[in-house]
Amino acid sequence: MENKVYDYLVIGSGAAGLYFSILASERGKVLLMTKNSLKDSNTYYAQGGIAAVDRESDSFEEHIKDTLTAGDELCNPKAVEIIVNEGPDIIHDLIKRGVKFTKDEGKEEYSLHREGGHSESRVFHFKDITGKELIRALTKSVKENKNITIFENMMSVDLLTEHQKIRQPEDEKNPTCYGVYAYDLKRNKIHKILSKSTILATGGSGQVYLHTSNPAVATGDGLAMAYRAGATISNLEFYQFHPTTLYTEKEKESSFLISEAVRGFGAELKTKDGKKFMQKYHPLKSLAPRDIVARAIDTEMKKRGEDHVYLDVSNFPAKKIINSFPNIYHKCLEEGIDITKEMIPVVPAAHYQCGGIETDLHGKTDIKGLYAIGEVAQNGVHGANRLASNSLLDALVFAKISSVSVQKYISKNMIDFTGIKEWEYYHTERPLEKVVVSYLRNTIKRLVSEFVGIVRSDERLKIAQKMIDLITWQARDYYMQTKLSKETIELRNIADVASLMVRFASFRKESRGLHYNITHPHKDNENWQKNTRIRNTGRRSKSDIK
Ligand SMILES: Cc1cc2nc3c(=O)[nH]c(=O)nc-3n(C[C@H](O)[C@H](O)[C@H](O)COP(=O)(O)OP(=O)(O)OC[C@H]3O[C@@H](n4cnc5c(N)ncnc54)[C@H](O)[C@@H]3O)c2cc1C
Repeated sequence: MENKVYDYLVIGSGAAGLYFSILASERGKVLLMTKNSLKDSNTYYAQGGIAAVDRESDSFEEHIKDTLTAGDELCNPKAVEIIVNEGPDIIHDLIKRGVKFTKDEGKEEYSLHREGGHSESRVFHFKDITGKELIRALTKSVKENKNITIFENMMSVDLLTEHQKIRQPEDEKNPTCYGVYAYDLKRNKIHKILSKSTILATGGSGQVYLHTSNPAVATGDGLAMAYRAGATISNLEFYQFHPTTLYTEKEKESSFLISEAVRGFGAELKTKDGKKFMQKYHPLKSLAPRDIVARAIDTEMKKRGEDHVYLDVSNFPAKKIINSFPNIYHKCLEEGIDITKEMIPVVPAAHYQCGGIETDLHGKTDIKGLYAIGEVAQNGVHGANRLASNSLLDALVFAKISSVSVQKYISKNMIDFTGIKEWEYYHTERPLEKVVVSYLRNTIKRLVSEFVGIVRSDERLKIAQKMIDLITWQARDYYMQTKLSKETIELRNIADVASLMVRFASFRKESRGLHYNITHPHKDNENWQKNTRIRNTGRRSKSDIK
């Protein structure tokens, strides 16, 4: 592994990483690396589905319009057009590759759900376990592919750029990526992995928050690595909260999602005393866009001093509920709630990162040879807010587009791999104390949740800024001072991402999409209809958001 140079190094095995690997393998050798097992990803947990225009009554224009409306005047219309126009082809290609989608009972047509913010039924799904089905079919294909080498339990730690070369070039402004240092979790050692191209498909960073629908792997590793290496990061103030995750009294690493499709099906949001409240907040009531619903729930909870609200689907026929949402029905039953008879307790949780590593319309970052696709990337599709079921589409479409542009890059560029240093083991052998890691990690999560959550204010952000600076310093120091471990690598990444989130949220002095600041409650197009961006210029000068 150490001396070999790969064509494509893909980091992450969600929809973006798997689909990219399959397509790139038609043109070269791929190394697909993932932190845990192949199936551990946000993708695996997707319930709702993939949005794509299919029916006569629907049109590309309508899907584009819905996406732009959700994005609150911050999407790049070109990026939106690309994913919408590619939608039907992607669905057909997935079907060809063995992905199953649910059909209408007794018919040949696919059953399409309508979700919040969509003006039409256009969400392809497989029961309520679309992500699991997607991962099943794509991992099968990846495992059978001789051009794809798979490393599970392999965690990327840092990107290899000029900084890891023995002689540093004069100009560090436009570094090149040569691969990564990766931590082999089974053998407990670091590998230097060289590649002509590196594709970050590492997903989101929901674990920065206390309540999140994201699984444990979503610690923002790719985002933090790219920032440290000098890639431009943008729009991190826009974090989408899913309004309805299952509320349980015991805190969990990841909160179970009650899909938007349940509200599309007709379920109503109610307060603890059984009263509907969404009519006060939006004409679409429970089907309003996610940010409005999440904020409405947050407001009702805070106003009433309650820790959750309810979602009520129990007035529909039991058989219809169980058939439409078997996974949700069984999961709730495990928690002692029969959704055919009782209301479901729900609470908002961090769900989707709209900002990320800035890319062009080919998935290219501003580091040569480094590409970013899927949730880790900010390519202009989602703007200030993501439309439901557009993210899997985004991940798949940009995997397809970038697989072509990466191939062009590697065929045109001769990359010089000489002089790249081995991993310098500057960490001590001092074992970590679990209590320190969990204290620092939980403090960051609580701080971000309370002060950079659904509702923000200048006052809260000012306090958050001071506190996060101190905790981030502590987290980085602890990472350096102890024996390398998954826990400390993740701690450093969570701290770096949290610190960026606080800075981005403090910078935007208006309210737009998912960023709601009560000190600046209105949208201000004159000053703020723009992406916020930061690029780490390293030790030599201080980098600022622009
Ligand atoms: C509960 C839930 C339901 C959702 N429902 C929908 C839906 O219905 N429709 C929709 O469009 N979107 C949905 N989303 C969002 C969507 O699932 C994600 O945006 C999408 O799956 C992201 O795909 P990805 O490939 O970019 O990242 P992921 O699927 O998150 O994959 C990231 C991969 O990177 C790996 N990784 C991370 N760090 C490292 C590292 N340091 N080294 C090596 N590997 C690493 C992870 O282990 C993982 O394999 C949902 C999300 C959640 C959490």
